Amino acid sequence: MAESSIISNTANLEKYLRLPQKGKFIAEYVWIDGSNGLRSKCKTLDKLPENVSELPEWNFDGSSTGQAPGNNSDVYLRPVAMYPDPFRLGDNILVMCETYMSDGKPNAYNFRHDAAIVLNAHKDQEFWFGLEQEYTLLDSQGWPYGWPKNGFPAPQGPYYCGVGTGKVFCRDIVEAHYKACMYANIEISGTNAEVMPAQWEYQVGPCPGMEMGDQLWMSRFLLHRVAEEFGAKVTFAPKPIPGDWNGAGLHTNVSTKETRAEGGMKAIEAAMEKLAARQKEHMEVYGEDNQLRMTGRHETSSFDKFSWGVANRGSSVRIPRAVAADGKGYFEDRRPASNGDPYQITGIMCETMCGKVEG
Ligand code: ADP
Ligand code: MN
Ligand code: MN
Ligand code: MN
Ligand code: MN
Repeated sequence: MAESSIISNTANLEKYLRLPQKGKFIAEYVWIDGSNGLRSKCKTLDKLPENVSELPEWNFDGSSTGQAPGNNSDVYLRPVAMYPDPFRLGDNILVMCETYMSDGKPNAYNFRHDAAIVLNAHKDQEFWFGLEQEYTLLDSQGWPYGWPKNGFPAPQGPYYCGVGTGKVFCRDIVEAHYKACMYANIEISGTNAEVMPAQWEYQVGPCPGMEMGDQLWMSRFLLHRVAEEFGAKVTFAPKPIPGDWNGAGLHTNVSTKETRAEGGMKAIEAAMEKLAARQKEHMEVYGEDNQLRMTGRHETSSFDKFSWGVANRGSSVRIPRAVAADGKGYFEDRRPASNGDPYQITGIMCETMCGKVEG
């Protein structure tokens, strides 16, 4: 089969991965490009940094990633978080970066910059976030993995948390990604097969403040990278297949010092009032094509109107039943689409609950 020869051969690679590095280290610098995708390039280090602040700034050609014009193409990479590299192993690292222009201003697609301003200003609130990342695996032709070539599988029902041939597809990728996240110190908290065949979910969190965005973006990088080895494509599109097929979200679980404290329901109710007043602003940063997903069907709510309820999966925000019973805890914003930017989502959540901060 001609196609399999272009798929990477990790068994062969194994012997080279074991070669000694003669005291040097490899750092894979990862950043977000101009179309909500990820890019990376790597660099040899003579010394292993103990802290991310010791890592050198770097740069790339922003005209090749849709992030800068050709006549001023240098975009700078500033390391913000580092993780053990599950692919190269040893002391090699993955480095999450922010992007900046030569005048020192953040790149147009650097949404972390603004999120950090508001989340750091309200650090005393001790925000925790937990994200449920849904996604779909596609074959090299772009059709959901395991689906009949020119048709559709049997209707949804047996696939959610399914087990067995014909009910789940690409479990190997999911398992490999889970272990890769753990190795990289990503706070992956679980995974499950989703309602549409070849659709999956994993959860990251709870993570404090800015760590949420960094970890989720790195977990997405790991997913693309693992799937690449298996010859599958990952799509974060919120409605990959039109019609009676499940969409994909990024449910955002939120708590603060106050919502977690005794009587925290009061703080949750106050947050609901504030969220209701800013429906439009939130939907603007909750992912592209989200209106295709938020049809009011398949456990989604209205795109235009805010609602909340205990244990209600058809409302914008769901208060888990156990939280209502305890009178404290967290809430789940079910509106964000699977392709939403976690920096923008956590940033606007903090802004709406605690107030704007001039940056
Ligand atoms: P669902 O029932 O909606 O499918 P999941 O089990 O998939 O829920 O995800 C629940 C998420 O809630 C996890 O990502 C977890 O990290 C997060 N979470 C749990 N407790 C808190 C908390 N106190 N604050 C913020 N997030 C939390
Ligand atoms: Mn070059
Ligand atoms: Mn879930
Ligand atoms: Mn789900
Ligand atoms: Mn959920």
